[in-house]
Amino acid sequence: MEKTAFVTGSARGIGAAVARRLSREGWTVALHCLRSREAAEMLAQELQKEGGRCAVYTADVADRDAITAAIQRAEEELGPISLLVNNAGIARQELFQDVTPETWRRIFAVNVDGPFYACQAVLPHMLHVKHGSIVNLSSIWGLRGASCEVAYAASKAAVIGLTRSLAAELAPSGIRVNCVAPGVIATDMVRQLGEETMAQLREETPVGRLGTPEDIAQAVAFFADDRSAFITGQVLTADGGFIL
Ligand code: NAD
Repeated sequence: MEKTAFVTGSARGIGAAVARRLSREGWTVALHCLRSREAAEMLAQELQKEGGRCAVYTADVADRDAITAAIQRAEEELGPISLLVNNAGIARQELFQDVTPETWRRIFAVNVDGPFYACQAVLPHMLHVKHGSIVNLSSIWGLRGASCEVAYAASKAAVIGLTRSLAAELAPSGIRVNCVAPGVIATDMVRQLGEETMAQLREETPVGRLGTPEDIAQAVAFFADDRSAFITGQVLTADGGFIL
């Protein structure tokens, strides 16, 4: 069975770590970015130097035509996608009263509509061969809720609903859908909160450190292949004990 993965938002952070890990496990990887083409190309060169096979595709996941076309191009150039990782996401911290409808819609457009469009784009082939795996990135805030991140937490809760429902619908067709819910991971998304907040979050994490993108890549890789063949519709929390 061919192993070609499409990883959304893989120019940096968790997505880049997922792409690296999959490439090292023998996957052909379609790297995807919105604006960070240069960073994605650099990652592609790094993976190719190690013997990996990959290419870069650019699209806004919130734009249905654009992300569908990017996935179709990847399938033509690299082969049919048997693993989709819906990683691209945005977050924003502000009081609920300050959230504008535009912000609310953009967060849902990227975090929820994006996975919806990407799933629909990879399904024709997966349904045809009755095989495939989809891994969505939620968040512990999608499980627990978060003050000053209502839109983000609500969008990540929606990702869990999408995961479980789609898993039930697609299981008879041989396609598994699972979800990773990271805790606090040291990436640009968290660095923007500032050093003081990061130190506080580190202290609140029972294992005594923030997560790394590689910690999350391990969990995604587990859902990617037959190591998790009997597992679908699950949410794996990878948070160093944060929400225990
Ligand atoms: P990040 O900000 O470092 O990377 C996000 C990536 O998504 C970037 O490459 C960005 O360009 C891409 N992206 C954003 N909007 C896009 C769009 N409209 N179209 C295409 N690409 C787009 O963030 P990260 O920390 O690596 O987060 C990756 C995923 O993990 C996100 O879904 C995030 O919500 C989730 N997550 C992160 C943490 C954390 O602590 N870092 C915790 C829980 C969940």
